Amino acid sequence: MDVGPEQANYLFSVMRLVPGATVRLFNGQDGEWIARVELASKKRGVLICERQNGPQVSPPDLWLLFAPIRKERTNFVVEKAVELGVARVIPVMTRFTNSERWRQDKQLAHAVEAAEQCGATFVPQIDDVAHLDRILANWPPERVLYWADESRAGQPHGFSGPTESGAAAILIGPEGGFSDEEKTLLNSLPFVRPFSLGPRILRAETAAVAALALWQNAMGDWT
Ligand code: SAM
Repeated sequence: MDVGPEQANYLFSVMRLVPGATVRLFNGQDGEWIARVELASKKRGVLICERQNGPQVSPPDLWLLFAPIRKERTNFVVEKAVELGVARVIPVMTRFTNSERWRQDKQLAHAVEAAEQCGATFVPQIDDVAHLDRILANWPPERVLYWADESRAGQPHGFSGPTESGAAAILIGPEGGFSDEEKTLLNSLPFVRPFSLGPRILRAETAAVAALALWQNAMGDWT
């Protein structure tokens, strides 16, 4: 396969790979492959795939929706979502979302890096920011939306058994929580299931990690 300027810079200038060196590759569909560097220059290169090194492992059909927070905390959520295994990350604007800062291209690069670091062979789809109302208005009805509802703190989390379609999503609110209007709307929708994350109110990024871990353990690919 041909290597473009950005990857050539990383592989041949930063990592200093020379012809004959091997590298592990994945494309999100065909598992992990061992490739040999055939040609290495500053701006381009050629890699030859030699053998498959591992199967494709894709995560369950789980989406994470969360309200972007401060930059480094948002980066943390994206990184952990990749490690814990999600198919799609959707940043949502809610009434009390604290930050509108979301660079889709940067977050995709961040997700690729996270996948490389944890040996994953899959990078989730990374969306651009959308308003919660709009997302809910266009929601696919067969996908269960698990809503982390801070007003249920202290109740059992309620994740159990697979959903009928296997398609699910988790929604985490901003530092300011959800507005009364948003809560009323969420409570009125047939595909929404509120859940609790224990007796304490968690920071948004902690809530995202805890919810993904609980869901994966009860209904995902951790069993
Ligand atoms: N300002 C809100 C309050 O005081 O109630 C807290 C918001 S919390 C920092 C951010 C988000 O994490 C919440 O909107 C919710 O989605 C989730 N969350 C945090 N702790 C939770 C809990 N114990 N149960 C359910 N969701 C929780």
